[in-house]
Amino acid sequence: MLTTALPTRTGEHFAAIDLGSLTNLDRFSFQLPQHDLQADGKVFLKELLHLTGAEISLNKLPAGKSLPFYHKHQVNEEIYIFIRGAGEFQVDGTSFPVQEGTVIRVDCEGERCWRNRSTEDLYYIVIQVPTGSCNQSTTADGVGVAKPVQWVDE
Ligand code: ZN
Repeated sequence: MLTTALPTRTGEHFAAIDLGSLTNLDRFSFQLPQHDLQADGKVFLKELLHLTGAEISLNKLPAGKSLPFYHKHQVNEEIYIFIRGAGEFQVDGTSFPVQEGTVIRVDCEGERCWRNRSTEDLYYIVIQVPTGSCNQSTTADGVGVAKPVQWVDE
């Protein structure tokens, strides 16, 4: 994976990274341990951002390509967020179309695969989180901070 040239920004309570245009995701690749395959167009963020509760990847699947295998998980459910392009997703033998705006949750046990059936690249985000780990909602967990908003250049 190409990591050395990535601009990162960190503070006491944050880490940020600029991956550049999603059309350039090809510069990232990932070695699939069980399949002896290299997956191009995939970048994992857990290590880059020191995530502690989730693994997130940004992905680009070229026109006409399919993943060449099914997979499932042992601990994590996965959320797939399709942000550009069109394709087809399959879970346990059920197939359905995906496109910009499609969001899918797949349980650990779901045997999944997907493909790009269009003539344009398919872009999507995959989030892995331990099943049953999020026991509070966003609005219940967020706490307002009692101070006025200020920007450095104002
Ligand atoms: Zn997975």
